[in-house]
Amino acid sequence: MNLTADTSALAPVAERLEADLADLSGYADPDAPGWSREVFSEPYRAARDWVRDRMRDAGLETTVDAAGNVIGRLAGSHGGPPLVTGSHTDTVHGGGRFDGIVGVLGAIEAARRIRETGTRLAHDLLVVDFLGEEANRFGISCMGSRSLSGILTPAHLARTDTTGHTLGQAMRDFGADPERALGLGWDARSMHAFVELHVEQGPLLEQRGVPVGVVTAIAGIERLLATFRGRADHAGTMPMAERHDALVAAAEAVLTIERVGCGAPVHGVTTTGRIESSPGVYNIVPEEARIWAETRSVDHTWLSGVRRTLADELAAQAARRGVETAVEWLNDQDPVLASRSVQDVIAAGADSLGIPWAPVPSGAGHDAAHMAGLGPMGMIFVPSHGGRSHCPEEWTGLGHIVTGTHLLAATLTHLDALPDVAA
Ligand SMILES: [Zn+2]
Repeated sequence: MNLTADTSALAPVAERLEADLADLSGYADPDAPGWSREVFSEPYRAARDWVRDRMRDAGLETTVDAAGNVIGRLAGSHGGPPLVTGSHTDTVHGGGRFDGIVGVLGAIEAARRIRETGTRLAHDLLVVDFLGEEANRFGISCMGSRSLSGILTPAHLARTDTTGHTLGQAMRDFGADPERALGLGWDARSMHAFVELHVEQGPLLEQRGVPVGVVTAIAGIERLLATFRGRADHAGTMPMAERHDALVAAAEAVLTIERVGCGAPVHGVTTTGRIESSPGVYNIVPEEARIWAETRSVDHTWLSGVRRTLADELAAQAARRGVETAVEWLNDQDPVLASRSVQDVIAAGADSLGIPWAPVPSGAGHDAAHMAGLGPMGMIFVPSHGGRSHCPEEWTGLGHIVTGTHLLAATLTHLDALPDVAA
């Protein structure tokens, strides 16, 4: 790919980016572990006010939409469908300093450098801090990007947390307008392109020794709840061969689920996150057990194959123990491919700046997966030390963040120059 613009001058001001990272990550709940800034919390509200001020200082015109997305706009010379970039500022409980905010601050710095260098974009550039990306106490992730892509539903708003409050009420209390958020969806093809900068949250880039990843696809997620029904018996008297032990059947299923994950041809993983059994005492053979597991992959065919394989194997294994099974599947997210054209622009932009890169899949979900429904989508990853994320030890070096931010600014500039970005 031949790129015309020289983007070397768009390099971020490292000290300014470092100070922004320190300031924004400092908005954290002092009573929670790690760097906690959960959606709807006071630190989250304060952090978003700070982000809005920072956007204004950068010369962006700011708004907060009905879904609570904070949006900064840098007007282009032609208008038309905007270029969109951004990420999120909420964290998981006990999270780290970089997940999400790198993409918001990188986007603000990219817009600032575009403006400071007198680079005039034809398209409007929108920088978005999406509302609540992490799975929250209502069991929903990516609320802001779901709203923009038109897939936020009344059923989502009616979901309750453990205290009986609904998501709709929580949004209203936070100052958003949930009913209007349901109808906020942008039109299909309403973006020129979308690019999100994010920490990798896995170990691949560090292991390969490259500073930047060009994301090929965002993994789909299938979740399963399997229930095993056996028979309660006296644990002292019932011979081993005559038992119908539901917990042992569930334990065998956990190992089967792991084995299937280990056999994935491309990036694929399986995890059992929870197991329960009843009656749950020493002296009774378990009558019932349940497991909660998930499988993720960028490969649609493998994912649907796993559903069939696990349904068959779990039932057959349990049947050999005289244990009945019931398996419920919940599709959380289909795999989403990054636009080939956006990947090419990111890669060519990296080459022109002399930045080594590697193609990588995303095993984690992102707002970008939803924004892909509105136009060509791409993501830039920077390395996570030791692959750690969603924990206080999460770490990405400033040098990598500076490199990723420079590449984001370059990518936006190159995409702007294309009359049309193919999917
Ligand atoms: Zn994130």
